[in-house]
Amino acid sequence: MCRHLGYLGPPVPLAELLLDPAHSLLEQTWSPRDMRGGGTVNVDGFGVGWYEDDGEPARYRAAVPMWTDTAFAGLARRQRAGAVLAAVRSATVGMPVIETACAPFADGRWSFSHNGVVAGWPESLAKAAGDLDVVDLMTLEAPTDSAVLWALLRHRLRRGADPAEAVREVLGQVVRTRPESRMNLLLTDGTTLIATTWGHALSVRRGEGSVTVSSEPFGDDEQWTAVPDRSLVVADSRDVRVQPVDEGELP
Ligand code: GLN
Repeated sequence: MCRHLGYLGPPVPLAELLLDPAHSLLEQTWSPRDMRGGGTVNVDGFGVGWYEDDGEPARYRAAVPMWTDTAFAGLARRQRAGAVLAAVRSATVGMPVIETACAPFADGRWSFSHNGVVAGWPESLAKAAGDLDVVDLMTLEAPTDSAVLWALLRHRLRRGADPAEAVREVLGQVVRTRPESRMNLLLTDGTTLIATTWGHALSVRRGEGSVTVSSEPFGDDEQWTAVPDRSLVVADSRDVRVQPVDEGELP
Protein backbone atom coordinates (compact mmCIF):
# COMPACT_ATOMS: atom_id res chain seq x y z
CA MET A 1 0.00 0.00 0.00
CA CYS A 2 1.15 3.52 -0.65
CA ARG A 3 3.28 5.47 1.79
CA HIS A 4 2.63 9.09 2.69
CA LEU A 5 4.13 11.92 4.69
CA GLY A 6 3.08 15.32 6.02
CA TYR A 7 5.33 18.05 7.41
CA LEU A 8 4.73 21.42 9.07
CA GLY A 9 7.58 23.52 10.42
CA PRO A 10 10.51 25.72 9.46
CA PRO A 11 11.14 25.75 5.69
CA VAL A 12 13.44 22.92 4.57
CA PRO A 13 14.62 21.82 1.12
CA LEU A 14 12.25 19.11 -0.14
CA ALA A 15 15.25 16.82 -0.66
CA GLU A 16 16.14 17.03 3.06
CA LEU A 17 12.69 15.72 3.93
CA LEU A 18 11.96 13.28 1.10
CA LEU A 19 15.20 12.06 -0.46
CA ASP A 20 18.20 12.29 1.86
CA PRO A 21 17.29 10.70 5.24
CA ALA A 22 17.88 7.04 6.01
CA HIS A 23 14.72 5.16 4.96
CA SER A 24 13.37 8.31 3.26
CA LEU A 25 10.13 8.31 1.29
CA LEU A 26 12.38 7.75 -1.74
CA GLU A 27 13.77 4.55 -0.15
CA GLN A 28 10.24 3.51 0.83
CA THR A 29 9.44 3.30 -2.90
CA TRP A 30 11.56 0.18 -3.34
CA SER A 31 12.03 -1.06 0.20
CA PRO A 32 9.08 -0.22 2.47
CA ARG A 33 9.13 -2.06 5.83
CA ASP A 34 5.53 -2.12 6.94
CA MET A 35 3.20 -2.71 3.96
CA ARG A 36 0.09 -4.15 5.52
CA GLY A 37 -2.56 -5.69 3.30
CA GLY A 38 -0.63 -6.37 0.12
CA GLY A 39 1.81 -4.66 -2.21
CA THR A 40 5.58 -4.89 -1.96
CA VAL A 41 6.83 -1.70 -3.63
CA ASN A 42 5.52 1.81 -4.28
CA VAL A 43 6.52 2.39 -7.88
CA ASP A 44 3.26 3.42 -9.56
CA GLY A 45 3.96 7.13 -9.29
CA PHE A 46 4.45 9.76 -6.66
CA GLY A 47 3.40 13.27 -5.80
CA VAL A 48 4.47 16.18 -3.64
CA GLY A 49 2.44 19.21 -2.63
CA TRP A 50 4.28 22.07 -0.91
CA TYR A 51 3.35 25.47 0.40
CA GLU A 52 5.28 28.66 -0.13
CA ASP A 53 4.92 31.98 1.68
CA ASP A 54 1.63 32.97 0.01
CA GLY A 55 0.05 29.81 1.44
CA GLU A 56 -0.95 28.45 -1.98
CA PRO A 57 0.22 24.91 -2.67
CA ALA A 58 2.38 23.93 -5.61
CA ARG A 59 2.28 20.35 -6.80
CA TYR A 60 4.46 17.90 -8.70
CA ARG A 61 3.13 14.47 -9.68
CA ALA A 62 4.33 11.80 -12.08
CA ALA A 63 3.28 8.22 -12.87
CA VAL A 64 6.83 6.90 -12.60
CA PRO A 65 8.89 5.49 -9.72
CA MET A 66 10.24 8.42 -7.72
CA TRP A 67 13.87 7.41 -8.22
CA THR A 68 13.61 7.61 -12.00
CA ASP A 69 12.56 11.26 -12.01
CA THR A 70 15.75 13.30 -12.24
CA ALA A 71 13.79 16.51 -12.88
CA PHE A 72 12.14 16.12 -9.48
CA ALA A 73 15.44 15.32 -7.77
CA GLY A 74 16.87 18.58 -9.15
CA LEU A 75 13.82 20.59 -8.12
CA ALA A 76 13.83 19.05 -4.63
CA ARG A 77 17.39 20.31 -3.97
CA ARG A 78 16.39 23.93 -4.70
CA GLN A 79 12.82 24.12 -3.44
CA ARG A 80 12.22 24.88 0.24
CA ALA A 81 8.88 24.58 1.97
CA GLY A 82 7.43 24.93 5.46
CA ALA A 83 4.53 22.58 4.74
CA VAL A 84 4.63 19.44 2.62
CA LEU A 85 2.34 16.50 1.77
CA ALA A 86 4.00 13.75 -0.25
CA ALA A 87 3.09 10.20 -1.29
CA VAL A 88 4.45 7.28 -3.27
CA ARG A 89 1.88 4.98 -4.85
CA SER A 90 1.32 1.28 -5.09
CA ALA A 91 -1.77 1.12 -7.30
CA THR A 92 -4.53 -1.15 -6.06
CA VAL A 93 -4.98 -3.99 -8.57
CA GLY A 94 -7.58 -2.88 -11.10
CA MET A 95 -6.88 0.84 -10.74
CA PRO A 96 -4.98 2.72 -13.45
CA VAL A 97 -1.37 3.85 -13.25
CA ILE A 98 -1.77 7.48 -14.27
CA GLU A 99 -0.48 10.79 -12.96
CA THR A 100 -3.89 12.03 -11.84
CA ALA A 101 -4.33 8.98 -9.56
CA CYS A 102 -1.26 10.02 -7.54
CA ALA A 103 -1.71 11.96 -4.32
CA PRO A 104 -1.78 14.73 -3.40
CA PHE A 105 -5.22 15.54 -4.66
CA ALA A 106 -5.62 19.30 -4.36
CA ASP A 107 -8.29 21.99 -4.16
CA GLY A 108 -7.55 25.60 -3.20
CA ARG A 109 -5.33 25.38 -0.13
CA TRP A 110 -6.11 21.72 0.54
CA SER A 111 -3.90 18.73 -0.24
CA PHE A 112 -5.03 15.15 0.42
CA SER A 113 -3.72 11.60 0.34
CA HIS A 114 -5.27 8.18 1.01
CA ASN A 115 -3.17 5.18 1.92
CA GLY A 116 -5.25 2.02 1.62
CA VAL A 117 -8.24 0.61 -0.20
CA VAL A 118 -12.01 0.75 0.16
CA ALA A 119 -13.07 -2.89 0.51
CA GLY A 120 -15.58 -4.02 -2.08
CA TRP A 121 -14.94 -1.14 -4.49
CA PRO A 122 -16.46 0.05 -6.75
CA GLU A 123 -19.90 -1.13 -5.54
CA SER A 124 -19.19 -0.23 -1.92
CA LEU A 125 -18.40 3.36 -2.95
CA ALA A 126 -21.58 3.78 -4.94
CA LYS A 127 -23.73 4.53 -1.91
CA ALA A 128 -21.32 7.10 -0.49
CA ALA A 129 -20.97 8.67 -3.93
CA GLY A 130 -24.69 9.46 -3.82
CA ASP A 131 -23.60 12.59 -1.92
CA LEU A 132 -21.77 13.94 -4.93
CA ASP A 133 -23.23 16.27 -7.51
CA VAL A 134 -22.45 16.41 -11.23
CA VAL A 135 -19.66 18.97 -10.71
CA ASP A 136 -17.95 16.66 -8.21
CA LEU A 137 -18.26 13.70 -10.58
CA MET A 138 -17.16 15.57 -13.71
CA THR A 139 -14.06 16.80 -11.90
CA LEU A 140 -13.09 13.45 -10.42
CA GLU A 141 -9.39 13.19 -11.09
CA ALA A 142 -9.09 9.45 -11.65
CA PRO A 143 -11.24 6.29 -11.53
CA THR A 144 -9.87 5.22 -8.15
CA ASP A 145 -11.25 4.80 -4.64
CA SER A 146 -8.89 7.52 -3.38
CA ALA A 147 -10.19 10.05 -5.92
CA VAL A 148 -13.78 9.33 -4.85
CA LEU A 149 -12.81 9.75 -1.18
CA TRP A 150 -11.22 13.08 -2.09
CA ALA A 151 -14.37 14.18 -3.94
CA LEU A 152 -16.43 13.34 -0.83
CA LEU A 153 -14.08 15.26 1.43
CA ARG A 154 -13.67 18.21 -0.96
CA HIS A 155 -17.47 18.46 -1.21
CA ARG A 156 -17.59 19.02 2.56
CA LEU A 157 -14.60 21.38 2.73
CA ARG A 158 -16.03 23.56 -0.03
CA ARG A 159 -19.13 23.95 2.10
CA GLY A 160 -17.05 25.17 5.02
CA ALA A 161 -17.17 22.00 7.14
CA ASP A 162 -14.75 21.66 10.04
CA PRO A 163 -11.89 19.71 8.41
CA ALA A 164 -11.39 17.15 11.21
CA GLU A 165 -15.15 16.53 11.33
CA ALA A 166 -15.27 16.20 7.53
CA VAL A 167 -12.47 13.59 7.67
CA ARG A 168 -14.37 11.67 10.38
CA GLU A 169 -17.52 11.76 8.26
CA VAL A 170 -15.81 10.34 5.18
CA LEU A 171 -14.13 7.68 7.31
CA GLY A 172 -17.51 6.82 8.84
CA GLN A 173 -19.23 6.62 5.44
CA VAL A 174 -16.82 3.89 4.38
CA VAL A 175 -16.09 1.90 7.53
CA ARG A 176 -19.69 1.72 8.69
CA THR A 177 -20.38 -0.69 5.85
CA ARG A 178 -16.85 -1.99 5.12
CA PRO A 179 -14.81 -1.86 8.38
CA GLU A 180 -12.13 -4.04 6.81
CA SER A 181 -11.24 -1.14 4.48
CA ARG A 182 -7.82 0.45 4.91
CA MET A 183 -8.37 4.14 5.44
CA ASN A 184 -5.25 6.09 6.36
CA LEU A 185 -6.24 9.60 5.27
CA LEU A 186 -3.98 12.67 5.33
CA LEU A 187 -5.17 16.24 4.80
CA THR A 188 -3.44 19.61 5.14
CA ASP A 189 -4.02 23.26 4.30
CA GLY A 190 -0.39 24.11 5.04
CA THR A 191 -1.02 25.05 8.68
CA THR A 192 -2.87 22.04 10.12
CA LEU A 193 -2.38 18.35 9.47
CA ILE A 194 -5.23 15.88 9.92
CA ALA A 195 -4.52 12.18 9.63
CA THR A 196 -6.31 8.93 10.38
CA THR A 197 -5.04 5.43 10.98
CA TRP A 198 -7.39 2.63 9.97
CA GLY A 199 -5.61 -0.52 8.89
CA HIS A 200 -2.21 0.99 8.14
CA ALA A 201 0.91 2.20 9.91
CA LEU A 202 1.60 5.84 10.80
CA SER A 203 4.21 7.46 13.03
CA VAL A 204 4.63 10.99 14.30
CA ARG A 205 7.77 13.01 15.04
CA ARG A 206 7.80 16.26 16.94
CA GLY A 207 10.72 18.65 16.58
CA GLU A 208 11.59 22.29 17.36
CA GLY A 209 8.45 23.97 16.04
CA SER A 210 7.79 21.16 13.62
CA VAL A 211 5.68 18.05 13.24
CA THR A 212 6.05 15.22 10.74
CA VAL A 213 3.71 12.30 10.19
CA SER A 214 4.84 9.43 8.03
CA SER A 215 3.66 5.92 7.16
CA GLU A 216 7.15 4.73 8.16
CA PRO A 217 9.73 6.45 10.38
CA PHE A 218 12.78 7.82 8.58
CA GLY A 219 16.02 9.40 9.78
CA ASP A 220 16.56 8.74 13.49
CA ASP A 221 14.04 6.05 14.50
CA GLU A 222 14.12 7.12 18.16
CA GLN A 223 12.43 10.44 17.42
CA TRP A 224 9.25 8.74 16.24
CA THR A 225 6.15 7.53 18.05
CA ALA A 226 3.81 5.01 16.44
CA VAL A 227 0.19 6.15 16.20
CA PRO A 228 -2.21 3.41 17.37
CA ASP A 229 -4.54 1.96 14.77
CA ARG A 230 -7.96 3.62 14.60
CA SER A 231 -6.80 7.09 15.61
CA LEU A 232 -7.40 10.64 14.48
CA VAL A 233 -4.36 12.93 14.53
CA VAL A 234 -4.81 16.71 14.47
CA ALA A 235 -1.53 18.63 14.48
CA ASP A 236 0.00 22.00 13.84
CA SER A 237 3.65 22.93 14.22
CA ARG A 238 3.22 23.40 18.01
CA ASP A 239 0.78 20.75 19.08
CA VAL A 240 -0.18 17.17 18.21
CA ARG A 241 -3.41 15.56 19.39
CA VAL A 242 -4.04 11.85 18.88
CA GLN A 243 -7.55 10.63 19.70
CA PRO A 244 -8.92 7.11 19.44
CA VAL A 245 -11.65 6.65 16.84
CA ASP A 246 -14.53 4.51 18.00
CA GLU A 247 -16.35 2.94 15.06
CA GLY A 248 -19.70 3.30 16.83
CA GLU A 249 -19.22 7.04 17.39
CA LEU A 250 -18.30 8.00 13.84
CA PRO A 251 -20.75 10.43 12.22
N1 GLN B 1 -6.32 2.50 -3.56
C1 GLN B 1 -5.50 3.63 -3.84
C2 GLN B 1 -4.94 3.62 -5.24
O1 GLN B 1 -4.86 2.64 -5.90
C3 GLN B 1 -4.36 3.78 -2.83
C4 GLN B 1 -3.41 2.65 -2.97
C5 GLN B 1 -2.49 2.43 -1.80
O2 GLN B 1 -2.59 2.93 -0.71
N2 GLN B 1 -1.62 1.54 -2.08
O3 GLN B 1 -4.55 4.65 -5.68
